[in-house]
Parts: sequence; C-alpha cells; structure tokens
Amino acid sequence: MIYDLIIKGGNVVLKDKVIKNDIAILNGKIAAIAETIDHKAEQIIDASEQYVMPGMIDTHVHICEPGRTEWEGFLTGTKALAAGGTTCYADMPLNALPATVDRHTLQLKAEAAHGKNYIDYAFYGGLVAGNLERLEELSDEGVIAFKCFMSTCGTDHPDDFSNVDDYTLFAGMKKIAELGKILSIHAENALITDRLGEELNAQGRTSAADYVSSRPVFTEVEAVKRALYFGKETKCPIHFVHISTAEAVEEIMNARSGGQDVSLESCPHYFTISSEQLEKIGPAAKCSPPLRSMEEQEKLWKKLLEGKIDMLTSDHSPCPPEMKYSSSNNFFEVWGGITGCQNSVDLMFDEAVLKRKLPITHFSRMISSNPAERFNIPNKGEIAVSMDADIIFIDANRSYVVEEEGLYYRHKHSPYIGRLINCRITKTFVRGKIVYDLDQGIVGKPIGKALKLKYGRSHLNLI
Ligand code: ZN
Repeated sequence: MIYDLIIKGGNVVLKDKVIKNDIAILNGKIAAIAETIDHKAEQIIDASEQYVMPGMIDTHVHICEPGRTEWEGFLTGTKALAAGGTTCYADMPLNALPATVDRHTLQLKAEAAHGKNYIDYAFYGGLVAGNLERLEELSDEGVIAFKCFMSTCGTDHPDDFSNVDDYTLFAGMKKIAELGKILSIHAENALITDRLGEELNAQGRTSAADYVSSRPVFTEVEAVKRALYFGKETKCPIHFVHISTAEAVEEIMNARSGGQDVSLESCPHYFTISSEQLEKIGPAAKCSPPLRSMEEQEKLWKKLLEGKIDMLTSDHSPCPPEMKYSSSNNFFEVWGGITGCQNSVDLMFDEAVLKRKLPITHFSRMISSNPAERFNIPNKGEIAVSMDADIIFIDANRSYVVEEEGLYYRHKHSPYIGRLINCRITKTFVRGKIVYDLDQGIVGKPIGKALKLKYGRSHLNLI
C-alpha cells in the first residue's frame, strides 16, 4: 500500500500520553500510528523536534460574511485560523448581516461560506426574541448549537442580532432541550451593566478602567446563576461562552456536580492580558466580559490548572480599525471584540504548557477533544486511527514576536502585536492536506468543508 503522507518522528500528542511515533495518512484519515512506519508514501515529512497535535477546534468565531465582509470574511478569517493551528471552527450567528436566526439566513450564510474556507466549519443558530418558532428549522438544517446573549447586543439595524429577555431565555431553553441541542450563553446582566455604563458616561467617566468597572465580576456570576437555574428547570444542556471569572467557573462546576448538563469555555485574552494593561494596549483589547484584574486572572489560572476550564476558544470578533480607533476617546464607544484567533494555540501553549507546566495532553484536550466531544463533532479532536488527519506541528524551541505583517486577518490589529511567544505553529494539515506552512504561508486552495448536524446531537455528518 502507498500512503498519501507519512509524518515521521514527531512527539505525537495522544489523548493521554506523548510518544515519539510515525503517523501514516490515507484519504484524509489517520491510517496508522506506530514507532516506525516504513511503507511507501507519496510524501514523507520529518517532524522531529516538533509536537504533533490534533488541530484546535475553535467553537467561538465571528466571521462577518455576508453583510459585513469588510469586517472579516471567510477567506481572511480562515487563513488566520489555519496559520494559528486551528483546523475546524464554529461560526457564531452574529455579526454577519442578516444574523443567523432562521433557515433562510442560515442558507445565506452557507452560500457565502461555500468554497472560501481553508478549514472545516459548522454554523451556530441564534436564539433571539421572536424566533422561538424558527429553532426547529435551524436544528433540522444542522446547526452545531444555539447561541444567545443575556447582555445587550446588536445595533439599530433590523437584521442584526439581539439579546434575549428572561422569558425568551426560559422558553428557548425548553425548546432547545426538546430538540436535543445545546444552548451557548453569553452571561452578563444586561440591565446592571447598561445602567452602570450610563451613570459613568453621564459623569464624563469614559476611560478603559471606567468601562471595566461598568461590568463587575458579580454581573457575570449573577447571569450564570440565573441561566443555570433556568437550565435546571427546563433540563436544557448549557454551554457558557467566554467565562472570565473564577467565581463563575465554580458556580458552573457546582451545578455540574449536582447533575446538570453544563460546560464552559474561556479565552486566551482572559489569561494573558489584564485590565491593568488595558489602558496601555488600548481598544484592540476591548471585549465583553471585560479583561479582569491581575488578581482575578490568577484565580482563573488556578481553575484552568485544576482542570475546570473545559475548552479554550478565541472569540475572534474582528472589526475595521475605524471602529476601534475613532477620534472620540470614549472607551464605551469602541467596538468590543478582540481580533485574536491566529494566536490562540501558540500563546496558550506558551503560557500554560511552557511557563506553568500544564501537561500537554491536558492542553490538547482543552483545544481539541473536549470541544469535539461536547458538540459531537465526529472524527475530529484526537490523533487516533480512523480520525480525520487534522494535525498541527508546534515547535517549542522557536520563539517569535507577533508582528502586524504576519497576521492574516482582514484588519491587522491585535492586542498581541509586539508580544514574545516562545513557541510557533510550523504546519497545519486539514484532513491530511497541508494548508499552512511557516516557510510558505497559506498553501493551496480553500478546502474546508461544512459540518452539518442533521437530527439532533448525535448525528453529525460531514457534507
Ligand atoms: Zn463572541
């Protein structure tokens, strides 16, 4: 037999151990893993001195196409994801226009995405006030999960996303539980954060620190507790997106210990930049929930090292520079979203594995197998025979400084520009095809396929 590709001599990160092994790939799948594979192959790539890991599955990305492609499109966004070591992602139901809230808008998104993705992808459906009757058709069309906002979101545009009221949250959960899906929740108390912001603005207090103080820790924790209570009442499986505080992690873990079907993600920025640095870095680091203090950040790191952060996601939420850097110095008016997906893997590998000695296998589970298992993405998330050959190389001995020129985003702003990272993604393969190489850059045409979850959580098929 002639394999398509053999990856030789890498430090292969399996689910529970790291071993020096060869990997053979045939027809996009991992065909063999062994100490030495001497068969013939179309191509043999030397991976010595590299960690060979499953690619990241980033279940929280905002590509803004169609409608706001000038913010970020599928081509630019997935080049950045591929260069950053992500091999599969889920696109959120907002910031494209129209928002993805029914069959029609999902189809518009699928058409816009077709042929423009370098990595595999799935779509989220939205839960918004007024679309309860549309959740079933979104589920039938194969959305990976549903997403809602408890904090205020959207714009004046009628096709934009909007946040849920408590009734919609409760009724939506009932429906989503029936459909056998997961509801992903942005948990912040809308009324309190909005009013605190208005009060500060009225006093002329509009700095980065004022913005942070308008969204205190308890406004995340309260929303998490309320959603957990609704979830318990409705038996809806819940996933909390971008959790930023240790107290919220604890509430979620307690609910899970009590038998609730709930998971959580956090993002690299909550571990690597603090609110104390926000003024200096500026608008590129504005997000919501906001960056937390160094003290809060240390508490969150403790939760990660204890294994209480199920998965890491980028929450890549790009925008044009004029929405970040306007003439006004009002930090409240700046677009809240971080352009960061190209540095999820290397940044967190550096901070968690190299600096804080988190086992690589644990890191790998957070970025790959946990999201695959939680969202029932078949054939992905692990280096094992018969799985998709979604593989990345990380060189742990190669450091670099993040520079604007190396970023693939449509708009090359990032809070990490100028930061030293002590490892580097050197290759990314999607189903056995190389899509990124450190020396060559993005390789070939966009080969990403849409993932479609047909009938509920356990029947996810590639189309
Ligand atoms: Zn988001």
